[in-house]
Amino acid sequence: MEGEGAATERQRRATASQVDQWAVQDHVFKIYGAFASIPRSAQSVILELQRDKHVEYLTRGLQQLGPSFVVLDAKCVLLPSSCVALFIDDCFVWCSSTWTASILKVWLYVRSRPWLCYWILHSIALLGESVDDELEDNAIDFLSRCQMPHLATTYAAVNSLVTLGGNKALSSINRDNLYKFLRRMKDSSGAFRMHDAGEIDVRACYTAISVASILNILDDELAKGVGNYILSCQTYEGGIAGEPGSEAHGGYTFCGLAAMILINQANRLDLASLIDWVAFRQGVECGFQGRTNKLVDGCYSFWQGGVFALLQRLPAFGGEGFGTSDVEVEWVSDSTSEGDDEDRDSSDDNEALHPEQDQEGHQSSSHSPESSTAVHIQHSRHNQLEPLFHTMALQQYIVLCSQEQEGGFRDKPGKARDYYHTCYCLSGLSVCQYSRSKNENSPPLPTSVLGPYSNLLEPIHPLYNVVSRQYHDAQDFFSKY
Ligand SMILES: [Zn+2]
Repeated sequence: MEGEGAATERQRRATASQVDQWAVQDHVFKIYGAFASIPRSAQSVILELQRDKHVEYLTRGLQQLGPSFVVLDAKCVLLPSSCVALFIDDCFVWCSSTWTASILKVWLYVRSRPWLCYWILHSIALLGESVDDELEDNAIDFLSRCQMPHLATTYAAVNSLVTLGGNKALSSINRDNLYKFLRRMKDSSGAFRMHDAGEIDVRACYTAISVASILNILDDELAKGVGNYILSCQTYEGGIAGEPGSEAHGGYTFCGLAAMILINQANRLDLASLIDWVAFRQGVECGFQGRTNKLVDGCYSFWQGGVFALLQRLPAFGGEGFGTSDVEVEWVSDSTSEGDDEDRDSSDDNEALHPEQDQEGHQSSSHSPESSTAVHIQHSRHNQLEPLFHTMALQQYIVLCSQEQEGGFRDKPGKARDYYHTCYCLSGLSVCQYSRSKNENSPPLPTSVLGPYSNLLEPIHPLYNVVSRQYHDAQDFFSKY
C-alpha cells in the first residue's frame, strides 16, 4: 500500500492541469456524494428541471436585448463577467480570438446579439415554450436587419428565425443575397472563410453548409471541395480540428461531421477513430471535456453528445437516416457479444452515481487515452438503438452540476450561468433523452429520462440544432420555392 509520503510527493510533482482536474473532480463528487446520501424521494426533487426558473431567466435575457434589440449597451449586461473567457477560453470559439480583450468585449457584444437571440430562443423552444408576440416581432425585426457579413452570426440569425417559425420570420430571410454571400465566402480551396478576408476553418464550412441546407439553397458549387478540407482536419486522435495541423476539438468535430453528412461524404471520415475519440472525452465527472486532458464543461454535452446523435441517425448504425443524405457507411463490428452490452446497460445508472476512486482519493479519470479500447457499436440486431455514450451519466452532470436552481446552466460548479451554456446544456440534455428513440416521433421511455418524466425536452434535429418541429416547418416553407 502506498505511503502517505509518496502521495504527498505525487501531489508536489503534480502539474497545474492535474491540480485543476482534481479540484473539479472533488467538487463534482461532493455534489454526487451529497445527492447519494439523501432519501430517494428527495432525490427525485433534486433531479427536477427548474423549467419555470429557466424560462424566467431566458425571457428576462430576451427583454434585456432592448427595443428592437439594436441599442448597444456599454454595460454589457447580457454577457456574464466571464463573457470574454466564455468565448476565448475553453468553450467553443465562434469568433476571432486575435482581438485584444477590451476591443473583443465590445465587438463580441455587438456580434453576439444574434447569438444571444439564438441561444435564448432555442432554449425556450427546447423547454416547449414560446415567446410573446411583441418579443417575437422585435426579434424578427432585429434579425432581418442584422445583415452582418459573418458566417457565424448568419448561422445564429437563420437558426433564430427558423426557431421563431411562421411566415413572417421565414420570409424575412433574403435567400438570393444569402446565396451570393456564401459564394463570396468560398475559398478557391473549396473551404469557407468566416467573413471577408477572415479565417478559413471547419466552423465556417459547417455554418455555410448548414445555413444553405436548411434554406434549401445548397448546391454542388457550395459543396465542392468542402469534404477534402474537413478530411484534412481529422487528426491522429480521431477527432476533428479547426484547421489542418491543429488539435482535435469537440466543437469542430461536431461541425465537421455534421457538414460531411450534409454533403453526403461522412463515409470519407475515419468514423471508427472519431467515435473512439469522442467516447473517451466523457469522464468520471459524467460530463464531456472538449479536448484531451481538459476540464469537463457543460457546453460539450451538445458538441460531443451531438456527434453521437448524428451517428445514430446514420443507416449504418441502425438509424433512419436524414432523408436526403442517407449516407452509406461500411462498418465492421468488433466481436463484443450482445450479452456484454446488456450487462453494461443494466449497470449504467448505478455506475453514474458511484465513481471509482484511486489510491489518493481522486476519482480515476476515463478521459485518459490509455484507457481507450475500440468502442463497440451496437447494430440494430435487436430492435432497440443503444446509445454510444453514457447518457444517464451525462444527464446527471447537466442536472446536478450545470443546472442553477434559480434558472440557467453553467460550465461547471463554481462558474456563473450564461445563455451560451444554457443553450448547449439543454441541447445536450435533449440528445440524451432521445438517444434510445428509433425516430424523433417516438417519445422516449421513462427509463431514458433522468429524474421525473416532466424533465423531457423537445427533440432537436441534430444537424442544425434547432427543435425538430421548427426544422420541419422551415423545410416545408423553403421547399415551396
Ligand atoms: Zn463551455
